[in-house]
Amino acid sequence: MKDIQIGGLVSFTTIDYPGKLAAVLFLVGCPLRCAYCSNPHLIEVGDGPYDPAKVFEWIQARVGKLEAIVFSGGEALMQGDATLNYIKKVRDLGFSIGLHTNGFYPDLLKKAEPWIDWIGLDYKATAARYESLVGNSIAYEQMSKSLDFWISTGKDFEVRITCDPRFITKDDLIEIVDDCANRGVKKIAIQKYQPHFEDEAHTTTAEQREQFFNDDDLRNKINAKFESVIWRE
Ligand code: SF4
Repeated sequence: MKDIQIGGLVSFTTIDYPGKLAAVLFLVGCPLRCAYCSNPHLIEVGDGPYDPAKVFEWIQARVGKLEAIVFSGGEALMQGDATLNYIKKVRDLGFSIGLHTNGFYPDLLKKAEPWIDWIGLDYKATAARYESLVGNSIAYEQMSKSLDFWISTGKDFEVRITCDPRFITKDDLIEIVDDCANRGVKKIAIQKYQPHFEDEAHTTTAEQREQFFNDDDLRNKINAKFESVIWRE
């Protein structure tokens, strides 16, 4: 069986798993093509530059120093059993397991769920505009199934909404958070869209990017709907 393909590694972070010191592995491959993707080098399926066995040895040496390992991407579940087997080995060392996911693989999420403690799930746009942002016609439906499944587990999670003004308006944001609140989501993060490349930076203005964050009415309205709202600027 093919081993997991790792395209990047952050060796220490306090912000990628709530309340725990963590490392993040970025796995290769993603089924989506988001307009604002900050990791385009990770989205094509292929070999990762890291040796999975060496990374595992490195993780073993972090026992007692780190508390969680987060699997990110790309889309970590795209590698199926290779990801799942690696997750199991890491969890057996005693780490909490986090998953950053776009929700595209609800069946794989169900399969992996017993070994995952927390997820950060991207809810990228309204149903009507999802495809135009991510370039995939079933991505909203898949994310929606993943969200409902994870809610049904009762496990901790955060829904993340990146406010790219090319694909989200304030009304859209309200529609998304209302949908989340109606489904029973308790924790959300509203993330500012940050252009990652010079050409992208010219397609929106700072004012457009900041409109979601400097509107007190909008903030108060959203804050009132959830147990926790992180405004990630
Ligand atoms: S889901 Fe994430 S990794 Fe995949 S294309 Fe979108 S932003 Fe990039």
